[in-house]
Amino acid sequence: MPEKKRGNKNASLVINGAAKDVLHRNLSSYIQHGYAYYRMITDEDNPVDFIYEEVNESYAKLTGLHDVIGKRMTEIRPGLAKSNPLFFEKYARVAETGVPDKFEIFIDTENHWYDISLYSPQKGYVLSMFDDITNRKNSEEALKKSEERFRQLFDGHSFIMLVIDELGNIINANPAASAFYGWPVEELCKMHLDQITTKPPLEVKSDLKKFKTTLLNTFSILHRTADGSLKDVDVVSNTIEIQGKVVFYCIIKDISELKQAEKQLKKLSVAVEQSPAIVLITDPDGNIEYVNPMFTQVTGYSAKEAKGENPRIIQSGLMEKSVYEELWKTILSGDIWYGELQNKKKNGELYWDQAVISAIRNNEGVISNFVAVKLDITEQKRILDELIESKLKTEESDRLKSAFLANISHEIRTPMNGILGFAELLKDPHLTGEEKADFIDLIQQSGKRMLDLINNLINISRIEAGETILHMAATPVNTLLRDLSAFFRPEMSKKGLLLNFLTPLSDSESIIETDSGKLIQILTNLIQNALKFTSKGKIDFGYNRIDGTLEFYVIDTGIGIPLAMKTKIFERFHQVDNPLTRTQEGSGLGLNITKSYVEMLGGTIRVESAVHQGSEFYFTLPYSPTGPAKLPLSSTVMQPPILALPAVTILIAEDDIVCSLLLKNSLKGKNVTTFCAGNGEEALAMVRQHQEIDLVLMDIRMPLMDGYEATTLIKKIRPDLPVIAQSAFTSKEAKEKATEAGCDRFITKPINRKELLELMQELLNW
Ligand code: ADP
Repeated sequence: MPEKKRGNKNASLVINGAAKDVLHRNLSSYIQHGYAYYRMITDEDNPVDFIYEEVNESYAKLTGLHDVIGKRMTEIRPGLAKSNPLFFEKYARVAETGVPDKFEIFIDTENHWYDISLYSPQKGYVLSMFDDITNRKNSEEALKKSEERFRQLFDGHSFIMLVIDELGNIINANPAASAFYGWPVEELCKMHLDQITTKPPLEVKSDLKKFKTTLLNTFSILHRTADGSLKDVDVVSNTIEIQGKVVFYCIIKDISELKQAEKQLKKLSVAVEQSPAIVLITDPDGNIEYVNPMFTQVTGYSAKEAKGENPRIIQSGLMEKSVYEELWKTILSGDIWYGELQNKKKNGELYWDQAVISAIRNNEGVISNFVAVKLDITEQKRILDELIESKLKTEESDRLKSAFLANISHEIRTPMNGILGFAELLKDPHLTGEEKADFIDLIQQSGKRMLDLINNLINISRIEAGETILHMAATPVNTLLRDLSAFFRPEMSKKGLLLNFLTPLSDSESIIETDSGKLIQILTNLIQNALKFTSKGKIDFGYNRIDGTLEFYVIDTGIGIPLAMKTKIFERFHQVDNPLTRTQEGSGLGLNITKSYVEMLGGTIRVESAVHQGSEFYFTLPYSPTGPAKLPLSSTVMQPPILALPAVTILIAEDDIVCSLLLKNSLKGKNVTTFCAGNGEEALAMVRQHQEIDLVLMDIRMPLMDGYEATTLIKKIRPDLPVIAQSAFTSKEAKEKATEAGCDRFITKPINRKELLELMQELLNW
């Protein structure tokens, strides 16, 4: 068979029948594949070429080459020698050497892969058994590419990836895992899961066993990194079976920051929920989205009620419109608004908020919310207002005190001037009796004016110290008014003024339980003022019974009081700053004392007045008639009776000669004997010496031995000898100290003769 195809002069060998049989037998397994039998030739045109001696059926199928027998390979497969010189080389080598060869080759010209096995049954011949492996090669190539792609994906992925076998060994890790865990990839690949989880090994083992049965497992866990720190991670584990072995392909997400943020958020939300400040959040249109419990606590609106509402629900309507305009302008421009707002609670009660309001913008810079953080400062505001008021009051009172001191100085100097001046004049031996009487009268008037001032000051200090004692007794109001009228009438006529008084109740009905002395002082103060500030017209005074009270009045037609001063005049040291009144004397204490007394007696005082319209002072006292059965007091309102003293021996302990003389003269009487001691020691000696002494009038501040010590020692010798402390000190402490020392009573200077006599009367049981 090969002979007929012999076209090459060098090809002298043909495969004979027996060899062919063997070949066929040997190649039977290849029958499905292609084979071709070539004779190598060489000539001038081609140093190496091959003549097709024989091919099987599959050859044409596999190569697509037909009618090849006897033809040259270079003819059948043109371009092959050039594109695949190796192909020719290998064929030639096998044909020449007889050493079989096996290789895979890609034939560019045919775009096919072949798996070729070459044999040489005889020199110069080559048998090629081949298979078209293009498909296999392509899939291998595809697999390789896909593997490469996978590797790239695995290695290049920013997700942390670990491949773990069913025993928990890490068998693969990507660079992201290395970066996260802090071990090089190679090291990680030698590690076990136990080294990176915080779970006990037994638990890990049981987890792995469980995971084997499910395709996908997701869980959160704490992982340990090379530096020992713990990180929260989310794990997605795919269970994959490769060549009968289970592996877990894990994608790990570091959520430690997220967890941290979550924790932070939780903290913040707890802080907002429990904040002592009100927190209110609205959407961009101003609808409330959130309010914290403090909002509910302060405003009374529950979170449910507030949600969806506009914060206008808490507006009081008392704030200037401009405040809100400014607020919106500020927050819309991205700034923070700070300010105070007066708002209204659900129950209508007003309160003050100190607010910080701002806008929240999203990533695009668009306003997503408004947040208001507010503090209820109602209480602070109240305290502040009070402080401001008290500061103003203090300033005002300082101012008044200075004015008062100036006034007092004036008030003291004026009568002193009169007293000293006229006393000096009295020394003139040429004065007529009438002149002398006038001067003495003037000295007395000045003295009285000074005493009034001092009395006022003492009264004020007593009121201040809470030491004013009320002597409540049945008081015949009608009689008292009559006496006052009689007392003031001469002065009124002197000024050309009319004085009217009205007593609508009968005398017996007019007896009430009150402190007559205080009532006299109240009315005297008011009438004196009316007299002082009225130059023409009249003064009416009296009372009306209104239900359970008696409303007293003193009405004048004088200069009146400006509206702004209506309440001020009752404050201490206040005088109407009026050029008309400046000429009038006064300390600005009278009405304050009056008011205090009225209130002590259970009443109130007010004034109705207008400038140049006269003034109407009204005050009330509880009407508590004691009934006609009780005897009215004797008419002793202004002038205390001069009591005739029975036989008595009195020791006056007093270092001040004038005071001593005054006391001595005040106590002058037919049977009165007085001893005078200039200090405590002398007083003590005299008590020792004169057993006849019935009573001691003890000054407190004295040289050598003060009144306290002297009294203590006197009481030791004669415990029953009554001692009346008499002092210019008016404080509570001074009185307490005197009582402690043994003094039976205390009387303040200037000494009211009536009071002194009453005390003596009481102590000596006259
Ligand atoms: P003073 O000793 O200065 O009169 P008061 O406390 O009695 O002090 O009165 C305070 C002030 O009230 C007076 O200085 C005077 O400005 C005004 N005032 C009191 N009573 C009258 C009145 N009847 N008419 C006009 N002003 C009066």
